[in-house]
Order: sequence, then structure tokens, then C-alpha cells
Amino acid sequence: MGITLRDVVLTYPDGDDRIRALDDVDFTAERGRLSAVTGPSGSGKSSLLAVAGLLTVPDSGRVELDGDDLTGASRAERTALRRERLGFVFQQSNLLPSLTATEQLLAITHLRGRRIRADRDRARGLLTELGLGTHLDRRPHQLSGGQRQRVAIARGLMNEPSVLLVDEPTSALDEDRSRQVVALLADLAHDRNVAVVMVTHDLGTLDLVDEVHEMHSGRLTSGSRVNVSE
Ligand code: ADP
Ligand code: MG
Repeated sequence: MGITLRDVVLTYPDGDDRIRALDDVDFTAERGRLSAVTGPSGSGKSSLLAVAGLLTVPDSGRVELDGDDLTGASRAERTALRRERLGFVFQQSNLLPSLTATEQLLAITHLRGRRIRADRDRARGLLTELGLGTHLDRRPHQLSGGQRQRVAIARGLMNEPSVLLVDEPTSALDEDRSRQVVALLADLAHDRNVAVVMVTHDLGTLDLVDEVHEMHSGRLTSGSRVNVSE
């Protein structure tokens, strides 16, 4: 269980031609594991995340979430699945400047009209678990880059997703902070039984992940652990 792409092709217009951003991609990210997707700029990593995140419908191929085939799902169904079963963490933490750490997490659930007291407890619990227990009421400018990224990760977990999609979480962090964030993502995947998919350029953290997939020109090679010492 987790997220699976089968024979996925995604093209974009490119002059008179079309470019294959995803060229017959098979990809599985299992719950309970941290999967990394690496590859050069323009190789299709963000396209892969967009299809796995139900933001983009491929030209052909199938997407399965926890075993459910989503071919033919309507836009409204995809939106509901995103809200209920997927979490997203973007490259820039995308926190709202005026909100405290706790409020960043609640901003999502309030849109869904849930109970505020239980949500507040859950938000505080998550932030505390991620080492931010003394920073619950701080705003983004009062947090370090690594702390902001942890708030964004906590926000991505707020709806207890099956799949957490993370785009370049360490691009703005130094080496130590990068390793801490990736180790945290691995722990979260294992402890919470979430399929965590992380796009990264950061080859120095790949020893911490469970699976490594490489993209080149829209094609995916899976399963090979990159040898960091090479
Ligand atoms: P990566 O995240 O690995 O840098 P992308 O998935 O963003 O790669 O892009 C893959 C390819 O698709 C690139 O050649 C890129 O130029 C192209 N591409 C991505 N998004 C669009 C778009 N909206 N319109 C046209 N081409 C796009
Ligand atoms: Mg990208």
C-alpha cells in the first residue's frame, strides 16, 4: 500500500512537438518507507510528484493510491483525496508570515471545518514530536530555516496522510540540518506508516533513505542505492 504509478506518460507542448516529462514511468512508494527521487534539473522529478500528488493527470497510465485505481477520478474526487489522504511539503516552506507554528497547522483543518479543540491538541502534539514544543507560538521570522521546514512537515502530516510528498526539503539547509530533516522524514515514514516520497539533489543524505530512484530525461531507474563515495 502507498502510491503506485504504472506506465505513466506525461507530455507538455514544446513548439510543434511535445516533450515527454514522464516517459513510461513505473514507480511505487510503499507505506512505512522513505523513497528518494534524484536526477538532474529538468529530468521530470517535479512532474512525478505532481502526478503522484493527483495535481496533474497523465496522458496515459494508471495511478493507484492504497490500491485504489484512480483512473477516471473526477477533479472533485482528486481534490478530496488530496485533502484527506495526501500531504505536501514544498521546497520553500510556504508558511504564512502572520501565523504562529500552531496556526499554520490549523489553517488547513479550519478550511475543512473540523473540531477546533481536537485539532489544536493534535497540532501541538505533532509540533512537539518534531522538536518544536517550545516554539508553538512563534511566527516564521522567529524560526530558523530548519525549524520552518519542520513546521511545514508537521503541517503535511496534519491530516494523517497515507502519502507525504516532499520537494527538495533540504535545498536551503546546511549539511547537518539537511541530515536532521532527512532522518526525521525516515523516522516519520517508519513510525507513522506513511509513504514518504522526497525529491532531492542532496546525494549526501541518501544513506538515510530506504529506496533511491533516479530520473533521467523522463525515465525512472529504481531500486539502486546510489553509492555516495563514488
Ligand atoms: P525537474 O523537477 O526534474 O527539474 P520537471 O518535472 O519540472 O523536472 O520538468 C520535466 C520537463 O518537463 C522539463 O523539460 C521541463 O522543461 C518540462 N516542463 C515541466 N513543466 C512544464 C510545463 N508546465 N510546460 C511545459 N513544459 C514543462
Ligand atoms: Mg523540480
